Amino acid sequence: MKKVDLLVVGAGIFGLTVAERAATVLGKKVLVIDKRNHIGGNSYSEIDKETGIECHKYGAHIFHTSYQDVWEYVNKFDSFTNYEHRVYTVHNQEVFPLPINLGTINQFFKSNYSPEEAKKLIKGQAKKAPKNPSNLKEQGISLIGEPLFDAFIMNYTAKQWQTPPEQLDKSIINRLPVRFDYNNRYFSNTYEGIPKSGYKAFFEKMTNSVKDLVKIKLNTNFFEDEEAQELLEAGTLVVYTGPIDEFYKYQYGALNWRSVRFEKEIIPVDDFQGCPVMNYADPDPKYTRIIEFKHFHPERTTGSYAEGSNKTIIFKEYSSTWELGKEPYYPVKTPTDLEKLQKYNTLAAKEKNIIFGGRLGEYAYYDMDATFKSALDAFNSKITPLLK
Ligand code: UDP
Repeated sequence: MKKVDLLVVGAGIFGLTVAERAATVLGKKVLVIDKRNHIGGNSYSEIDKETGIECHKYGAHIFHTSYQDVWEYVNKFDSFTNYEHRVYTVHNQEVFPLPINLGTINQFFKSNYSPEEAKKLIKGQAKKAPKNPSNLKEQGISLIGEPLFDAFIMNYTAKQWQTPPEQLDKSIINRLPVRFDYNNRYFSNTYEGIPKSGYKAFFEKMTNSVKDLVKIKLNTNFFEDEEAQELLEAGTLVVYTGPIDEFYKYQYGALNWRSVRFEKEIIPVDDFQGCPVMNYADPDPKYTRIIEFKHFHPERTTGSYAEGSNKTIIFKEYSSTWELGKEPYYPVKTPTDLEKLQKYNTLAAKEKNIIFGGRLGEYAYYDMDATFKSALDAFNSKITPLLK
């Protein structure tokens, strides 16, 4: 049997993309291992047995991108629906549209401002922030002014991050656009959608397309697996997508993450909240949002997806403190974390046959498309020359 050319640790987006490319483009033999019992990483979905509703096991995942190469790449494996994400938020027992747009502004200030009037108003309110914002709070106020920040961002962010907004990276808030028209699409990307067959099937199609060259071993811990350790010692190229600090035995301390906990409920109604994601902006309730999975597939019309079916599934999402052993979701990236990361990256740069990638390997707050992009770029610039 041909020997393994590439070992990929982690069967999430980064790992599977690299494995698929190495097999399809270069004809290389790849071993992918993952400690979980499924592929797809946090983008994995599964179909609930009782209702037939597809749930994103690790929280809402909506594919959106402006990268042409990423869009073409993902469309090789499945076509995408024309799903458009829209989110609402509850504040003071009232529902407002997100991201903050002219509809939110006029509802909040009980007014009928034109786009120009609203801009002027927010500009005045944003004056409270310094010219060069250095953290999430200053950045938030400079974008939307203090009243809207206090209503929609401050408490939600405190619930989600359990870190004072003054200590959080300002880029977190840049994920949320602010609009002075009535457009309430959550994302502003060129392309958006959900794989027609669902995420689980998408990743299966991806791996099936290279099943002769890519072997996948699940329930396999890299640090304990003999085959993986032998390959590493023999100098085989390794793409490692697990936590970079874990790889280096936490020698500079653990990088800090936020974790998330979901409470799943099957509710005996056709439609629980009328939209896929409802955020809760106030300190109470304690959950940050409720996800209702049915709404991700309005095109599905059979079983529980049919109108009047009387069954829906919701996940109440709670942010939770991360500690070793818990699932890492969001990198906190305090200045201390970034210092540690720099030290780990210095070690990583000295490795001859190990490439770190993905959310955990790079300690990055990645959307799905950014992970595909980073994997495709790493494949072209670093992995291909090493495998050739
Ligand atoms: N955010 C907020 N209020 C909201 C939604 C988002 O304050 O209703 C802030 C919060 O700090 C959050 C960030 O915007 O961490 C990004 O939110 P998004 O929903 O885009 O991130 P996700 O959790 O889905 O990755």
